[in-house]
Amino acid sequence: MPIRRSALTLMFAAVAAFAPMTMAMAADGDLIIRNARIVDARGEQGGGLATIRIVNGRIAAIEKQARKVSGKARGTTTIDADGGHVAPGLVDAHVHMMWSPGCALQHPDARTENWKQTCGRLLPDYLRAYLASGVTTIVDFAGPGFVHKAIRKLEADGAPSPRYEYLSPVLATAGGYGGVPPFADPDFMLVASEADVDRAFGSAREAGVIGVKVLLESGFIDFQKMPTHSAGILARIGTEAKKNNLPVFIHASSEADMNRALDIAPRGLAHTLINRDTPLSQAFIDRMAKSGTFQVSTLQTTDSYLNRHEPRRLSRPGLEVVPPSELAYARDPRNGDRAVSLLSGNPDDPVAVEQTAAALSPNSVNRTLKVSEGAIRALARAGVPIVTGSDTPHHPFALYSFHGPSSIREMELLGEAGLSPMEVLTASTLTPARMFGIDRDQGTVEIGKIADLVILNGNPARDIGSWHKIKWVVRAGRAATPARWLKFRDTAR
Ligand SMILES: [Zn+2]
Repeated sequence: MPIRRSALTLMFAAVAAFAPMTMAMAADGDLIIRNARIVDARGEQGGGLATIRIVNGRIAAIEKQARKVSGKARGTTTIDADGGHVAPGLVDAHVHMMWSPGCALQHPDARTENWKQTCGRLLPDYLRAYLASGVTTIVDFAGPGFVHKAIRKLEADGAPSPRYEYLSPVLATAGGYGGVPPFADPDFMLVASEADVDRAFGSAREAGVIGVKVLLESGFIDFQKMPTHSAGILARIGTEAKKNNLPVFIHASSEADMNRALDIAPRGLAHTLINRDTPLSQAFIDRMAKSGTFQVSTLQTTDSYLNRHEPRRLSRPGLEVVPPSELAYARDPRNGDRAVSLLSGNPDDPVAVEQTAAALSPNSVNRTLKVSEGAIRALARAGVPIVTGSDTPHHPFALYSFHGPSSIREMELLGEAGLSPMEVLTASTLTPARMFGIDRDQGTVEIGKIADLVILNGNPARDIGSWHKIKWVVRAGRAATPARWLKFRDTAR
């Protein structure tokens, strides 16, 4: 594929005892769900209608449906699932809350505290959009500390938010991916020595991260040569990860880099193949299956570029949760053209811009997307645990990855890749919970777990489209319809 290097910078790319309800004080997070059909990664549960009792934000009891609810504490909310399916809340294992779609097109200087007035202005809306889309946990795969703090502040103020966890600091190589603009930033730590690695793990521990992200990217196309971590640095990262008991998640987009990543037994790979023409080798698939490493999908990063060519995709169901100003911005073709010229890395060079446009043509995008989907399918068939991660919005210039609906799009793409609706459900609930070590608290509809639930007008174990038929989303026992989640004000309740 004769594309110049400049054209390719774009494609980087406890169980709680059941307290008798008559004794329990109803509090925020006390809820009864009637007429529920429970479905999770273990399959359809209970063989009939059930009543789910939630106390203090956790599932306290799951009972075979009684004709009448007994022992209901005063003030407890009851909702009727009306025979709909109740599934675990979704996890999007890979997002970036520091970016809004196209944020760097509008605000080139947003990567500072200035972010709050620019790309971060709609942050409460993004969190609500995730909830309205059924996503009750998001994991920030890289972002500055001021973003983590802003979200913790919103949570403390009672603003609706999915569970929020974050990785980082990101270990990058000077002059390599993440070590040059538009990514270079204090939250991308450049490691040049083993002492740097030790320091990075020290600050990761202090920052309360759920894992550490490492960039290992030698080029988004075969002849692009970027410097990456040396074997010594990589080995040290593996040692420090074990010593600090912090899982490592590695960005790699080619088989060669993924193979190097597996040398230090990472918990997960952040992406599958991106922008590649060659499928994964059987040797790699076998090695990955033996390794126990989780594979995060990020297919929508590639797919999203089709929106520029098919504007009707910007009216798809699900996008009603996107802030209207953001959709209007994405629909203006002049902004799509500008994004392409900036993605070229050299907007004044018409050749570079032309080559970037070619790399983002429907043919190119569809071709490489098929390769990425094939990789996910092959890994899944080999028994590799697949995890739904949309990587929204995936790049500061990316215009068509939207907080919330892009997570659902990622699930549809996993379906297109050949995963069954049940495999997609598992990849979006229990498997990410296991990957991040939070499956004691979430991932299934079980007594003792946090009551993060989605009530659907359809069976998600049979039809991925059910995720577009959400009736209620419950976050830690707080239930609302998607429309209501969107309307919540920061001070509500
Ligand atoms: Zn990412």
